[in-house]
Amino acid sequence: MSNISAPTPVTTPVVVSIPKAALWLVGASLLGLILYYFIGIDQGATSVFGSDMHIHEFVHDARHFLGFPCH
Ligand SMILES: [Zn+2]
Repeated sequence: MSNISAPTPVTTPVVVSIPKAALWLVGASLLGLILYYFIGIDQGATSVFGSDMHIHEFVHDARHFLGFPCH
């Protein structure tokens, strides 16, 4: 009795390379959005840390300098 079976297909893994520039773009965009949020938006009901005003007070001068509405 022969033990003949169909050959198993050889699959090569697909290697996806992400360009380095794309990683820099994503990282810079994420950092920019975080800075934009904390300088321009984080206040009152939209504050990440609730009623804690330390971040707001820390970036308060930058907020006024950049023209974001504050008080
Ligand atoms: Zn202010």
